[in-house]
Amino acid sequence: MGDTFTEPQPTPLALLLLGHGSDPGSERGVDCPGDLPSPSDPLLVERARAAKAALGDRVFILGHHYQRQEVIDFADVTGDSFKLAQQAAAHPEAEFIVFEGVHFMAESADILTSPDQQVILPDLAAGCSMADMAAIEQVEDCWTALEAAGIADVTVPITYMNSTAAIKAFTGRHGGAVCTSSNAERSLQWAFEQGEKVLFLPDQHLGRNTAVRDLGLSLDDCVVYNPNRPGGGLTADQLRAARVILWKGHCSVHGRFTPDCVDEVRERVPGVNVIVHPECQYEVVEKADVVGSTEKIIATINAAEPGSAWAVGTELNLVKRLAMTNPDKEIVYLDRTVCFCSTMNRIDLPHLVWALESLVSGTVVNRIEVDPDTSHWARVALDRMLALPGPTPTRD
Ligand code: SF4
Repeated sequence: MGDTFTEPQPTPLALLLLGHGSDPGSERGVDCPGDLPSPSDPLLVERARAAKAALGDRVFILGHHYQRQEVIDFADVTGDSFKLAQQAAAHPEAEFIVFEGVHFMAESADILTSPDQQVILPDLAAGCSMADMAAIEQVEDCWTALEAAGIADVTVPITYMNSTAAIKAFTGRHGGAVCTSSNAERSLQWAFEQGEKVLFLPDQHLGRNTAVRDLGLSLDDCVVYNPNRPGGGLTADQLRAARVILWKGHCSVHGRFTPDCVDEVRERVPGVNVIVHPECQYEVVEKADVVGSTEKIIATINAAEPGSAWAVGTELNLVKRLAMTNPDKEIVYLDRTVCFCSTMNRIDLPHLVWALESLVSGTVVNRIEVDPDTSHWARVALDRMLALPGPTPTRD
């Protein structure tokens, strides 16, 4: 069962994803001022413990579910990005919030915390390929195309939590809201009460899955706006006919699961339940038994019958932890090959030690700070989400 979890096979692509190469086009910068401890330093764990103890209540460490176990071991709380941002806000005594996650999450924490609190991302190269697929200039161009088609004033933008602060602020300025993977349906319903169309950013899969599977729209009601083509690759008539305009973005981790992965695991593991995240492609989600946010995946597997078998379509660090904490169940990864989130994996123990020891010595490194105007409008979009009826949203 869980103790027999089989590591997926590495592939040449995976080696690049794991940080043995680089993709400068999708990274936010890899400079790390000061001396990084060596990954082979046998005292790394002791050094992290000592630095954290020296900082005491001055530091609060947030660990995202997709992070490596070596840094999760030092997290004061683990969760999805929205829960972690809320946790940061709930600890005003902490002068420093160290975010074991990616850039957009640290931005959200900065937006939701007081100006006295400083949010730190141990490695600035920990971006998010999905968030990077929607640059603010591209989204402004898209809005201009909607204006030219005469539909901007009836279109409500909704952005997934996994977007930059600039995109959240854009959404706030244009009467829209943020959503998470657990409240996307309510957010879209709310948006259709405010207007006739939705511009969904930046994850086309979450937008399509929610519009078609939850709201009952047809695939033909959705069009995909490609920011790399003039006018998004759409005519004004196509924009006018659409109910949902999906941004052409996706998660590089969840987007790689295919319908074949589902067929293959059902043959390999008789009686297996397939559970996937809604960032997966529509065709994959349609074949799954259960679809849900990270928090729902965790809750479902924790509550599952002993002896049951689960194939999980989400990030590999989380799947490995689920296998470790559920030894009475058979937990397998939905794909046969490695699928870590390469940018999440940038946060490793040497970077955490470096960030903590720098704070101990009085130097704040890698602070993530959102400018006041962007922060204000992003907060407006976040508050609109929080005002939606229903349970507290979770995401990612
Ligand atoms: S798992 Fe996907 S959405 Fe999450 S940080 Fe990585 S690339 Fe971004």
